[in-house]
Amino acid sequence: MRVLVTGGAGYIGSHTVVQLVAAGHDVVVVDSFANSKPTVVPRLEALIGGPLEVHAFDLTDRDKTESLFAERQFDAVIHFAGLKAVGESVEVPLEYYQNNLDSTFALVRAMQRHGCFRLVFSSSATVYGDNAPVPYQEDYEPLSAASPYGRSKVMIEQVLRDVASAGGQWRIAVLRYFNPVGAHPSGTIGEDPQGTPNNLMPFIAQVAVGAREELYVFGDDYPTPDGTAQRDYIHVEDLAAGHVAALHRIAHQEPGLRAWNLGTGHGTSVLEMIRAFEHASGRTVPYTVVGRRAGDLAAYWADATRAHEELGWSATRTVDDMCADTWRWQSSNPEGYPD
Ligand code: NAD
Ligand code: UDP
Repeated sequence: MRVLVTGGAGYIGSHTVVQLVAAGHDVVVVDSFANSKPTVVPRLEALIGGPLEVHAFDLTDRDKTESLFAERQFDAVIHFAGLKAVGESVEVPLEYYQNNLDSTFALVRAMQRHGCFRLVFSSSATVYGDNAPVPYQEDYEPLSAASPYGRSKVMIEQVLRDVASAGGQWRIAVLRYFNPVGAHPSGTIGEDPQGTPNNLMPFIAQVAVGAREELYVFGDDYPTPDGTAQRDYIHVEDLAAGHVAALHRIAHQEPGLRAWNLGTGHGTSVLEMIRAFEHASGRTVPYTVVGRRAGDLAAYWADATRAHEELGWSATRTVDDMCADTWRWQSSNPEGYPD
C-alpha cells in the first residue's frame, strides 16, 4: 500500500515508518516539524536504505493538505500528527484543540474527497478517564479525560465514529496507546523531548546520562505494592508493529470504526522502572520522593486481548529491552537529534 504517515518525523511515527517500509509499503511523510527536527530524516533514510518522501507543512493548512491528496494517490493514512504535552495543553488549550482537531478535519476531508477511506488514528489510554476499571477494556464508556490534550483525543474519536457511522466506505482503526518508551535497537532514532521531559522514561535517561542531577518520584503513598504508581510501558518497536498489523486488518475489515488497546497488559511501578534502567545502563539514577503529581492515577494497564485476537499482535519486548534500547539511544545522542 502507499501509506501517508502524518507526524512521521516524530517519536512514534519515525519508528513506524521504518517498520512500514520493512513490511513492503510505500511511505510518504507529512510533518510540520513543530515537535521534531529535520535531522531525523537522513537517519530514517539510512535505516530504510533509500530516500524518504517528506512534505514539510502544517496539516491545519487545508489548501496544502488538499493539494497533497490532489497530487498523490494514497491507499491509507496513519495519523500521528498532533500536540501531546498534557501540562502545556492546560496552559494553551486553544492551541491544542485547534491543532489536533483542525489537522484531523483537513485530513479527513481531503481523504474523503480523494477516495482514501482507510485511516489509523493515534489515540491514548487517557481517554478512559478516572473511573474505568483496570485493566482498561475498549468498550468502556463514557470516554473522558482530565486535560485539554486528552479531551482532544476523546473528541477526535467521537468525530471519527460519527464519520464512520454516516455510511460509506470508511475503515478506521483507533489505537489507544499506553506508555510508549524505548528506541530503535540501532540507537539512531529515539525520543527527543524538547526542554524538560514530562514523562518518566526520558527523565530517567537524562539523569543516567548526567544531563540532570536527579529524578523526582511523584508520590510513594499509592495503594500499590511499593507505593509508587504503576503504568503499562510499551516498547515503541512493539507499538510500531501494532500499526502495521492494524493497517493490514482494516484493509480487509467491514466498513466502520474499531478501537484497539496497544499495551502489554502489565503494570510496572516507578521504582521498578528506575531499577531496570540502572541495570541496563550500569549507572545509578539518584532520586528524591516528592508529592503526587496533580491528576495522576495510582495504577492502570491495558486489557490487550482484543489486539491479540483481532490483529494477531502482542507486545513481545520486556521492560529490560525498553531500558536497554533507551539507554543505547540516549548515551549515543545525549542531546537528542542535532539542530
Ligand atoms: P511527537 O510529538 O514526537 O510526534 C508528533 C509529530 O507530529 C511531530 O513530529 C510534530 O512535528 C508533528 N505535528 C504536530 N502537529 C502537526 C500538524 N498540525 N501538522 C503536521 N505535523 C504536525 O509525538 P509522538 O509521541 O510520536 O506521538 C504521536 C501521536 O501519538 C500523537 O498524536 C500523540 O498524541 C499520540 N500519543 C502519544 C503518546 C506518547 O506517550 N508518546 C501516548 C499516547 C498517544
Ligand atoms: N513520574 C515521576 N517522575 C517524573 C515523571 C513521571 O515519578 O519525573 C511518574 C508519574 O507520576 C507516573 C509515571 O511516572 O506515575 C509515568 O508518568 P508519565 O508522565 O511518563 O506517564 P503518564 O503518567 O502520563 O502515563
